[in-house]
Amino acid sequence: MMRLPVLQHHRPTSLEQALTLANDGARFVAGGTDLLPKLKRRQYDASALISLGGVRELSVFEQDAGGWTIGAGVRLVELARSEALRASHPALWQAAIQVASPVIRSTATLGGNLCVDTRCFWWDQTEPWRLAAGSCMKRDRDVVCRVAPNSPRCWAVSSTDTAPALGVLDATVRLVSRNGERRIPLAELYVDDGIDYLTLRPGEILVDVRVPTATGRSAFWKIRRRQSIDFALLSAAVLIELHDGVVTRAKIGLGAVGSCPLFPADAEALLVGSRLGDEDIEAAGKAAAKHSRPMETSDMPSSWRRRVLPVAVRHALREVRGDDVSEARLRYGRQVVLD
Ligand SMILES: Cc1cc2nc3c(=O)[nH]c(=O)nc-3n(C[C@H](O)[C@H](O)[C@H](O)COP(=O)(O)OP(=O)(O)OC[C@H]3O[C@@H](n4cnc5c(N)ncnc54)[C@H](O)[C@@H]3O)c2cc1C
Repeated sequence: MMRLPVLQHHRPTSLEQALTLANDGARFVAGGTDLLPKLKRRQYDASALISLGGVRELSVFEQDAGGWTIGAGVRLVELARSEALRASHPALWQAAIQVASPVIRSTATLGGNLCVDTRCFWWDQTEPWRLAAGSCMKRDRDVVCRVAPNSPRCWAVSSTDTAPALGVLDATVRLVSRNGERRIPLAELYVDDGIDYLTLRPGEILVDVRVPTATGRSAFWKIRRRQSIDFALLSAAVLIELHDGVVTRAKIGLGAVGSCPLFPADAEALLVGSRLGDEDIEAAGKAAAKHSRPMETSDMPSSWRRRVLPVAVRHALREVRGDDVSEARLRYGRQVVLD
């Protein structure tokens, strides 16, 4: 059985207390579904955990005339249970309900999902495995990247489902530290680097996410091996604004095909001015796939990701166009589909 290292455990009840406790050796923990297994596998070292579970400022979940404010501590199950969110922002609801499994969603939080670690076959291993087969750059900076030995950077892949969805929905995140507060667009929370994949500063807490009232139709598609519990092999979120049947604004978000969520502007531009015909959708999917730079970091070869990404984009765009995609949703949920 893998055990946690000996740690101090702090349970602040306010944001101010949590910020005061922050120090170099301490890590914030929310639901713990990502962090605790990693500490058990000794992927990270920590001397203390600061639990955000009791921090009241992180639990707001409200809709007003301008949109939603969702605290970082809101559990994914609460998003999945919200019929109002499902109606107003389907992409976010669809992303939340597809994270992991019901048991994990009942503990996992939105903030933890947005900050969830990048993944790689060489990284997500136990200490004895690493001792036997060798470490990787993400654990030990002086070791070469095991998937791209000539690369100066780590290629571990972004694995958050909610970020591509929140990105197309124009969400912003509020970050607070002892030095003050800032609000940034969701996309700016991420860096295309497997190790330093967040722009969160030391001691900074993601407090809440603001999701403005949706101006168009949105959808999120995730392709994974097992519908019951699995990270995305790839995902695609879209938002389309239409005026008299013509696309006036398009947003595409891609997950699990790079070290950060990708928002391919040229693929979006292809859709603007179109009537969202089959050829327009096909062209946007292909353009989006050119942005993905998947490496052999996890399940399925990168050639598969490049081939299937346009399929996910296509289905998401067909869904917002109003096509009946229920059969495809079932099919994608049950097996890895190759075209
Ligand atoms: C079997 C399994 C399957 C999974 N499947 C999926 C999946 O399909 N999709 C997916 O997206 N994820 C998946 N996950 C990963 C994880 O469970 C989720 O991403 C979850 O939402 C993480 O939330 P948490 O609250 O448990 O985060 P934690 O584990 O508590 O924290 C994760 C990271 O975020 C940081 N953090 C948390 N909250 C804050 C905050 N407010 N401010 C600053 N930093 C913060 C922590 O310090 C830590 O580094 C899976 C995990 C497991 C074990």
